[in-house]
Amino acid sequence: MQDNLLKIVDKIKEAQVKSGRQEDTITLIAVTKGVAPEKIKEAVSIGINNFGENRVQEVIPKIEILPDKLTWHFIGHLQSNKVKEVLPRFSLIHSLDRLSLAKEIQIRSEKSSRITEALVQVNVAEEKSKFGLSVNEVEGFIEMVVEKFPNIKITGLMTIAPYVEDPQEVRTIFRELKNLSCKIKVPGVELKELSMGMSSDYEVAVEEGATMVRIGTALFG
Ligand SMILES: *Cc1c(COP(=O)(O)O)cnc(C)c1O
Repeated sequence: MQDNLLKIVDKIKEAQVKSGRQEDTITLIAVTKGVAPEKIKEAVSIGINNFGENRVQEVIPKIEILPDKLTWHFIGHLQSNKVKEVLPRFSLIHSLDRLSLAKEIQIRSEKSSRITEALVQVNVAEEKSKFGLSVNEVEGFIEMVVEKFPNIKITGLMTIAPYVEDPQEVRTIFRELKNLSCKIKVPGVELKELSMGMSSDYEVAVEEGATMVRIGTALFG
């Protein structure tokens, strides 16, 4: 695992240099779906402290037995009836994609007097099999959230690129998300985070402006 990590960190650095982003901080989120707690502990021991999960039922027992200093990111489709369990355990929700979910997050956040940070998931490639808003729906959606749900703080955008053999083919997807984040102007909202890039395409994503990459198999095997 350490070799994998070193390789990933190297490649991220390389992509940063290549695109003139040396000064930027890129957060490596280790995706732990299907990964046993022992392996997660090993990841912690080599310096990883941001973890991502998309299966609520699977992750809760794991979180319970892992050190509580870890930062958890919810990266999968979130059902409204799971919000209650997700909010107290996760620092950032990457998959806000509909008003009914925002409403539930608002209700739960208000109840516990907290502000919940979230990224809006965008289905840039318009894939039928994926969740997320269309590019042209995002600004209106953010305006609505700001207007109706004061306990939600939107801090950026997230996308999952289509799986392709050659990651260069999804460069335009990442570029489009970056452009969208620059174009949207909603008072009080700063879209500074771009969660994009997975094992097969994170270098291209970093070159195109990712601030968070979500990596599972390239790290854990
Ligand atoms: C599983 C998953 C990842 C990690 O995928 P790998 O290809 O294993 O790196 C990243 N993001 C999301 C949303 C995922 O579900």
